[in-house]
Amino acid sequence: TESLSSRDPELFASITGELGRQRHEIELIASENIVSRAVMEAQGSVMTNKYAEGYPGRRYYGGCDWVDVAENLAIARAKELFGCEFANVQPNSGSQANQGVYQALLTPGDTILGMSLDAGGHLTHGAKPNQSGKWFNAIQYGVRQQDSRIDYDQVQELANEHKPKLIIAGGSAIPRQVDFAKMREIADSVGALLMVDMAHFAGLVAAGEHPSPFPYADVATTTTHKTLRGPRGGMILTNNEEIAKKVNSAIFPGIQGGPLMHVIAAKAVAFGEALRPEFKAYQKQVRANAVALADQLMKGGLDIVTGGTDTHVMLVDLRPKGVKGNATEKALGRAHITCNKNGIPFDPEKPMVTSGVRLGTPAGTTRGFGEAEFRQIADWIVEVVDGLAANGEEGNGEVEAKVKAEVEALCKQFPLYPEL
Ligand code: PLP
Repeated sequence: TESLSSRDPELFASITGELGRQRHEIELIASENIVSRAVMEAQGSVMTNKYAEGYPGRRYYGGCDWVDVAENLAIARAKELFGCEFANVQPNSGSQANQGVYQALLTPGDTILGMSLDAGGHLTHGAKPNQSGKWFNAIQYGVRQQDSRIDYDQVQELANEHKPKLIIAGGSAIPRQVDFAKMREIADSVGALLMVDMAHFAGLVAAGEHPSPFPYADVATTTTHKTLRGPRGGMILTNNEEIAKKVNSAIFPGIQGGPLMHVIAAKAVAFGEALRPEFKAYQKQVRANAVALADQLMKGGLDIVTGGTDTHVMLVDLRPKGVKGNATEKALGRAHITCNKNGIPFDPEKPMVTSGVRLGTPAGTTRGFGEAEFRQIADWIVEVVDGLAANGEEGNGEVEAKVKAEVEALCKQFPLYPEL
């Protein structure tokens, strides 16, 4: 019966501190979002107490009637949202969704072809330090030097040469739409399976603001916490019954034990929210805001990789201002604008330095920011970056303090979780 604040004041302070941070800072990390109170309520529910190894209707534990209701809701809503036949909502994360697909469709030593990390792919697409890069013969494709777009000719050449069993499309820093039909054509030409990892843009797909991986992909994976605006977690989708069976066995008992039923309940809530008309309007605004942010940053003298974005994410090339990604992330942080340093294609700087930052609009748009607010945010970013350009790594303290005060004033106009 004891509340968290009295049971564990030390830990409680970290949560209130984080709530304060989220309230007073502008969140531009492209992979983050702000979930609804309903999603949080489901995630903080008694469903955390329940073991439910197996799947609805065929569990290895008794007492699963109510968690079955929750998981069935999540599955039905996911299928409706993405127009597909099968959904596994149990992966604990996006990485485990991908690992589940590999476990289902591959054996160690098989060849996979994914996008390299430095071109915008994800670690789990075959990067060296990741299990996918250690256990498989991972071949990596990238983007074209001249326009930073996916080099489909290279994908075809590498596919011809290495005959991968699985080709992976999608990534973590791809500002433009991936041509799924083209990837399917390449996969078919060498008899490979095609997996689309739509972790970043799944929310846009759900709202019809991005082409769907289906019918092109054999299997699609996603996180549930980025543009999709659900709890942290993963999901696997397919229209192929045989793949669905293999995926189910791969997730449990292959790589996971008891599913996180409280998270699955929260996924069901988020998918229900995503089926509503407001979600379509939200995703449209996410894209419009991204266009406005990119445009205003370019007006301020920064480059945007590929010259813009047609998703929720953009890569800012800081080189025109002569500043680095790591220093920019820190300086913007001092001004209460949160983002992450990110390598740009063919980045001459090391991964811990970088020539870029990655920015996204999902969280700010949830908060209520429109294009005017995002143009204002772009102007603040340019001011802070100009301070770095003029003064070196310590930046311009006066400008940063002024921007921080203005950021806080804007945040007050768009209160976050006022009920908490
Ligand atoms: N796939 C892509 C494309 C991602 O961007 C991410 C997360 O950044 C993941 C997979 C992994 O998701 P998680 O961090 O939940 O393991």
